[in-house]
Amino acid sequence: MSINFSEETNGEIITTTASLPEDNGEGSLRPRSINEYIGQEKAKNNLSIFINAAKMRGEPLDHVLLHGPPGLGKTTLAAVIANEMGVNMRITSGPAIEKPGDLVAMLTNLNEGDILFVDEIHRLNRAYEEILYPAMEDYAIDIILGKGPSANSIHLDLPHFTLIGATTRSGQLTAPLRDRFGVSLRLELYSPEELTRIVVRSAGILNVEIEPEGAFEIASRSRGTPRIANRLLRRVRDYAQVRADGVITRAVADMALSSLEVDKMGLDALDRRMLRSIIQYYNGGPVGLETLAATINEEAVTLEDVYEPYLLQHGFLTRTPRGRCVTRKAYEHLGIEYMGQQQMEF
Ligand code: ADP
Repeated sequence: MSINFSEETNGEIITTTASLPEDNGEGSLRPRSINEYIGQEKAKNNLSIFINAAKMRGEPLDHVLLHGPPGLGKTTLAAVIANEMGVNMRITSGPAIEKPGDLVAMLTNLNEGDILFVDEIHRLNRAYEEILYPAMEDYAIDIILGKGPSANSIHLDLPHFTLIGATTRSGQLTAPLRDRFGVSLRLELYSPEELTRIVVRSAGILNVEIEPEGAFEIASRSRGTPRIANRLLRRVRDYAQVRADGVITRAVADMALSSLEVDKMGLDALDRRMLRSIIQYYNGGPVGLETLAATINEEAVTLEDVYEPYLLQHGFLTRTPRGRCVTRKAYEHLGIEYMGQQQMEF
């Protein structure tokens, strides 16, 4: 049996928050009820109130916007909401809606109370967004048939539905669309303790024997993201099977993760390359995002959405009006001598 323990998975770095083909089994690990959904207490508390109030009134839930970095559980939370409301959920995404007819078909096929989940809603074509405005506000759409003087407008009533939009970049949503969401919830990176509970729960579902210290080791190296925690758990499980006796102890998790080049702080090769490049080529910064992206041959959006949230939260990086700067903590973590801030000014 040959198992690839290297950090790259089909060209992707193992700790990317983006969904990878190997995450296909994610479905079975998704919590179904709000009680199973670990962490995000603030968002959950707010939601519970809205859900209960809507149920008491016998009305559909107000439209909900979920925002936050990838892999934090936006899709999962939308499914939990559908489950708690006892309604069906249809799933689509901004880029999947290629023509206005796609959106009209989705809307007209909904049943009373259904949820329409639109992932990456910031990537929805701006021209089609206007179909959503009356749909969200008045549960109706006006379709124009034909062109010129013979054009006809048809008014279609829609069932009362709930739109749940998910986005990694709420700043890119147009104001009219953002204003039509009654509820806007921001998901935050998870603490190592919350991720430990997620890893233990997933290990139970996957039938993997894991010690609490092993779960904590995986959790604290998963950049605050459940998707990564579950992915690393699967990789560590393979390692434990092949190189140890199948039980994930702290030592086994440490060895497996080190071989995947995920360091003690959960930084991977790209994080380290990014920080090192700012130090090496820009004296620690400030450097503009686009310039930095070109230097390390990555897309600026990937750096901003996938890499920066964790680096900022853990104080390895700061954002200034003139660009990104690495901190003393980053120098120390990389074992590079810190010469002080004065070098940045010359
Ligand atoms: P997003 O839509 O934000 O990219 P997903 O909802 O697809 O993220 O979540 C990725 C995976 O992480 C899910 O398959 C689920 O197993 C796991 N997950 C996310 N949030 C939680 C949570 N709060 N508790 C347990 N598992 C979670």
